[in-house]
Amino acid sequence: MSVPDQKSAPKLALESGLYIVATPIGNLADISRRACDILAAADIVAVEDSRVTGKLLSYLGLKKRMLRHDDFAAKSASEEILAAAREGVVALVSDAGTPLISDPGYRLVRAAREAGIAVYGVPGPSAAITALSISGLPTDRFLFAGFLPAKDKARRDALAQLTGIDATLVFYESGPRLGKTLGAAAETLGEREAAVARELTKKFEEVVTGSLAELAARYASEVPKGEIVLIIGPPDDNRIVASDGELDNALADALESLPPAGAAKKVAKRFGVDRKALYARALEMKGG
Ligand code: SAM
Repeated sequence: MSVPDQKSAPKLALESGLYIVATPIGNLADISRRACDILAAADIVAVEDSRVTGKLLSYLGLKKRMLRHDDFAAKSASEEILAAAREGVVALVSDAGTPLISDPGYRLVRAAREAGIAVYGVPGPSAAITALSISGLPTDRFLFAGFLPAKDKARRDALAQLTGIDATLVFYESGPRLGKTLGAAAETLGEREAAVARELTKKFEEVVTGSLAELAARYASEVPKGEIVLIIGPPDDNRIVASDGELDNALADALESLPPAGAAKKVAKRFGVDRKALYARALEMKGG
C-alpha cells in the first residue's frame, strides 16, 4: 500500500484531547485513514515502546515526539501527557491493536476523564475481535478474559470461575503455554468447541478448530510460533444442567466401578462441570 506523505499533509484542525488510537496487529496496511490523520496532527504520541511505534510512524512518513507510558508510569509522565491533552492533541497508542485491551491506558483515561479532558476513541484492529469474527464460534455473547494466570493452580482456578458462563470465551495466549491452557480448559470446562487463531493478519495466519480435548492433544506436543488468541465456545445448550443432588447421585454411581479420580472425570465430562470440585466431593463420599 502506498502511504500518502503525511509530512506535507495539512494539519487537521482537531479538538484538543486524548485520542485512543488503535494500530495494526500485524499488517501495517490495517491502519485507518482517521488514525493516520490523528497521528499526523498529534503534538505528542504516548507509546508503550518507542521502537515499535517508531516503525509505524516511519512507515507513515511521520516524525513525532513520543512519550513512554504505561499504567505504572511515574505520576510526572502522566501529568505531562494530561497537560498536553488539555492544550493540544495527544494520541495514545499501544504496541499493537486497541490500547487498554490487555494493554496500558486505563489509568490515564480515568485520570483524563476526572480532569475534564476530552477522550476520543479511534477504533481499529483488535486481535480478540478479529479472532472471534473468523472462529466460526458463536459471537452473540462473548466474554473477553485477557491473559490467564501463568501458574497452573491460578490458571485452573480462573477457568473454574468461568465454567457456568453462557458465552463464548476469548483469551490471549502464548505458544509455550497453549498446550497447558488447553489441557486445563478441557478438564475444567468439559467438552466444548474451540479455535486457536494464530498470527492474525500476518503471512502465517491460521485458525485451527476442534474440541477442547482434540486441541489439547494436538498442542500437548506442538508449540506453535507467534501470537495467539484462544476462543472457547459456550457450554452446549443440550448439556444436562445438574443440581448438586444429581451430581452426587451420578458420582455415587460412578464410584461403584471407578476410583475417585476416574469417577470425577466421568461425571465432569458428562455434565460439563469442574473436575477438581467433583474429585474433592468424591473423596468426601468415599470417606463418609
Ligand atoms: N491491544 C491488543 C489488541 O487489541 O489486540 C492486544 C495486546 S496484548 C498485550 C497482546 C496479545 O494479543 C498477544 O499475546 C496475543 O495473544 C494477541 N495478539 C496480538 N496480535 C495478534 C495477532 N496478530 N494474532 C493473534 N493474536 C494476537
